[in-house]
Amino acid sequence: MTVSTQVVVIGGGYAGVMAANRLTQRENVAVTLINPRPTFVERIRLHQVVGGSDDALVAYRDVLGEGARLVVDTVARIDAAERSVTLATGDTVGYDYLIYAVGSGSADPRVPGAAEFAYPIADLEEAQRLRSVVDAVPATAAVTVVGAGPTGIETAAELAEEGRSVTLVCGGVLGPYLHPRGRRSVAGRLAELGVTVLEGPDAKVTAVTRDAVRLSGGRELPSRVTIWATGFGVPDLARRSGLSTDAMGRLLTDETLTSVDDVRIVAAGDSAAPSDLPFRMSCQAAGPLGAKAADTVLSRIAGEQPAPIDLGLAGQCLSLGRRAGIFQLAHKDDTARGIHLGGRPGAKLKEFICRLTVKQLAAEARKPGSNTWAWAKDDKRQQVLRAG
Ligand SMILES: Cc1cc2nc3c(=O)[nH]c(=O)nc-3n(C[C@H](O)[C@H](O)[C@H](O)COP(=O)(O)OP(=O)(O)OC[C@H]3O[C@@H](n4cnc5c(N)ncnc54)[C@H](O)[C@@H]3O)c2cc1C
Repeated sequence: MTVSTQVVVIGGGYAGVMAANRLTQRENVAVTLINPRPTFVERIRLHQVVGGSDDALVAYRDVLGEGARLVVDTVARIDAAERSVTLATGDTVGYDYLIYAVGSGSADPRVPGAAEFAYPIADLEEAQRLRSVVDAVPATAAVTVVGAGPTGIETAAELAEEGRSVTLVCGGVLGPYLHPRGRRSVAGRLAELGVTVLEGPDAKVTAVTRDAVRLSGGRELPSRVTIWATGFGVPDLARRSGLSTDAMGRLLTDETLTSVDDVRIVAAGDSAAPSDLPFRMSCQAAGPLGAKAADTVLSRIAGEQPAPIDLGLAGQCLSLGRRAGIFQLAHKDDTARGIHLGGRPGAKLKEFICRLTVKQLAAEARKPGSNTWAWAKDDKRQQVLRAG
């Protein structure tokens, strides 16, 4: 068999692994996946790393198809003109097509003292470090979680269930994505776990010190461990490599996920901004986007016009400790509906979804091209695009 097309995938997360596996369905395509760690990280379990109930690690041999070659390294630069990437170790790898799937990490905390004294939790090493910090303080020590999006809520619940004394500082409302009914359900569970939830305009953190956080309303809360969970930022690799990005640094693409600068570069997952209307950063979007990125590349190799992305999200699923959870259902345009599943069934569903994401990768490894996403339709996106 002659290999005629080299495809390099940067980033071995949900999007990159899905893309790499799917690409192996064509025998004359050589797939190289470049990732800094030798092990797949289930980022959606990182709050469990902090709580001590999971290590969030899965061997690549369990999720990555044999047809894809894993290179453990970091891409330092993309040279689109030369069609090559330079690795941190100095090597270069050439490509015919490139899939950009570098994901996300912690956003730069702009609040004074946060970078020095608060602990982020957006990647594996951050979560592991935080676990050691939590382990080293007495059980009664005040823990403050800053940010009440999914990561903040899940982390606060996990630690409170362990018996920690947790304050969740929302900076605005608890769970901004949630429907008011879903929010009430989450607030109820956090209250049962003993989490103090501070909401409203006075509950914005304005400064962090070694042992306290200061709030916009003037209050100062003692805090032995401050956890920073105010949202994600993306790696600046695309921007540094001279490619067009949105304001946050996500690679700008069209609806086929193809870079607006270069038909050979396709993006997926948290680091992609299709039509400057990015999907919510989520594992839920990353898998289908990874598959779509691979389909786009395979279409181009076959000399066909790739189809536009057609993806709607189902909702948001949060664990609230190990014994409760919530599945907040959404409309196809990713706004919350008045329906949710809470309590123990919510926890079970969340665990099922966590396992499903890994199973989907493994299924794609075994049978490339097999995954489909039945709910994938978002008519409102099409209307917005047509109007723009
Ligand atoms: C605690 C927590 C809980 C979450 N829970 C949920 C949830 O319940 N549901 C949900 O949908 N989402 C959840 N998310 C969000 C979800 O984890 C991300 O949206 C998802 O991981 C994005 O997938 P991705 O493949 O785009 O990126 P990632 O999973 O971040 O993978 C990107 C990969 O690229 C690698 N990489 C980065 N730069 C380079 C480089 N220069 N060279 C080579 N490789 C590079 C990274 O090391 C990483 O391995 C959660 C996130 C956190 C932190």
